[in-house]
Amino acid sequence: MSKLVQGYEVVIGFETHAQLSTHSKIFSRAPTAFGAEANTQACAVDMALPGTLPVMNIGAVERAIEFGLAINAHIAERSIFARKNYFYPDLPKGYQISQFEIPVVQGGEVSFFLEEGKETVRKTVRLERAHLEEDAGKSLHEDFIGQSGIDLNRAGTPLLEIVTQPDIRSSDEAVAYAKELHKIVTWIGICDGNMQEGSFRCDANVSVRKPGAPLGTRREIKNLNSFKFMQQAIDFEVRWQIDQIEDGHTIQQATVLFDPDTGETRAMRTKEDAADYRYFPDPDLPPLVIDRDWVERVKGEMAELPRVMAERFVKDYALPEYDATQLTQSKAVAAYFEATAKACGQAKLASNWIMGEVSRRLNASELSIDQSPVSATQLAALIGRISDNTISNNAARQVFEGLWNQEGEVDALIEAKGLKQMNDTGELEKIIDEVLAANPKNVEEFKAGNAKALNGLVGPIMKASKGKANPGQVNALLMKKLG
Ligand code: ADP
Ligand code: MG
Repeated sequence: MSKLVQGYEVVIGFETHAQLSTHSKIFSRAPTAFGAEANTQACAVDMALPGTLPVMNIGAVERAIEFGLAINAHIAERSIFARKNYFYPDLPKGYQISQFEIPVVQGGEVSFFLEEGKETVRKTVRLERAHLEEDAGKSLHEDFIGQSGIDLNRAGTPLLEIVTQPDIRSSDEAVAYAKELHKIVTWIGICDGNMQEGSFRCDANVSVRKPGAPLGTRREIKNLNSFKFMQQAIDFEVRWQIDQIEDGHTIQQATVLFDPDTGETRAMRTKEDAADYRYFPDPDLPPLVIDRDWVERVKGEMAELPRVMAERFVKDYALPEYDATQLTQSKAVAAYFEATAKACGQAKLASNWIMGEVSRRLNASELSIDQSPVSATQLAALIGRISDNTISNNAARQVFEGLWNQEGEVDALIEAKGLKQMNDTGELEKIIDEVLAANPKNVEEFKAGNAKALNGLVGPIMKASKGKANPGQVNALLMKKLG
């Protein structure tokens, strides 16, 4: 979707619920594993039995700190938990423990690249906050003796709600942001990122306005559980809002659901605002105090972040920023690149091959890079044979094909397929002399100033060499011989 849609600017802010990968719940010791039989993973605290009290899971706090560090946010020295009151059958306490006024993670930003026409641009989305909260249970509207059922297994599952500023300007940016955020949380290992199982749930707040006008009224699209639906839902919503405004209607703030079957968004309820929830500090939980030593300790234990790794790739391997970002899409791709680059000493070639041929083949076969039939060592050997002029780029693609099909190692494949480039000048000169003698007309024309006549000579030379001549060398020798 382009920047302006029918003269309107699109404004989007994201709220993402990332399920934190702790073994037990945020305020109880019940396990969090997905898919267990209903109500087998809910203890007295999760069921809100009278007399029970919540106890903070330190593992959940550490994951929030890691997230804050990953996006350059401020980690609050002191944050507080609040009760968000609403009545729903799957919320047995009658309130959700969340954070309101003082969230644990404040500010920060997420940046990524995206294609705009022919250009690659860098976009930064500012984050407003990320706060800890518990998930609710689930209502099962199947027939249980004529009634709905409640499964509290999910109740009390730790969530980090990550909220952006309204900085996103198109559905393309929205998807790129969500993918980048997904990459960050899975890279640092605080969330498994499984969208089908609901471990990474995105809500998109969408509004439109004429450029320069104040923010329009937003509608919030809930639970976008795939990147494809996210794009479709936002595109539909934007068109719908513009049509409404163009028809003279005003947009009512609302929560809407996307229906993948019809491709449409549909209002679910009018949106409640903070006052409806009657937030107040939860007296059962003391303020969460995070001293700076703790933050430093967590920082010291964290793996290198994608952003930091990308900067290192630019510095250590002299890669363009774009390459470095692409290669740090996942830890596995980054590791494969580093192994290849170190083994062959040709970082840019390694990057080109990985982002090109390797990705293409992996995508086509729906394989991840750890499943690649071509190892980093083999790719490095192949690149070595290109850079020492043993084979041409064209021949290298055939060797790669052989590696992919597990037909043998690089040198054996070059030999077996007869792909060795002709680097013996004497042999090549002999071929060139023969071709020049056989094509006096082209030679004349070239000497008379027709540069194109050269093609009529290069072709037969490559053919006579059975494609093994090095094109650069052929050109150089021709120029020398023709003056
Ligand atoms: P709520 O209290 O309803 O959750 P917030 O103020 O916390 O509302 O904002 C929720 C999300 O909506 C944020 O990501 C914010 O950037 C986004 N947002 C706020 N106003 C708009 C708007 N006019 N258009 C699009 N997104 C908006
Ligand atoms: Mg909010």
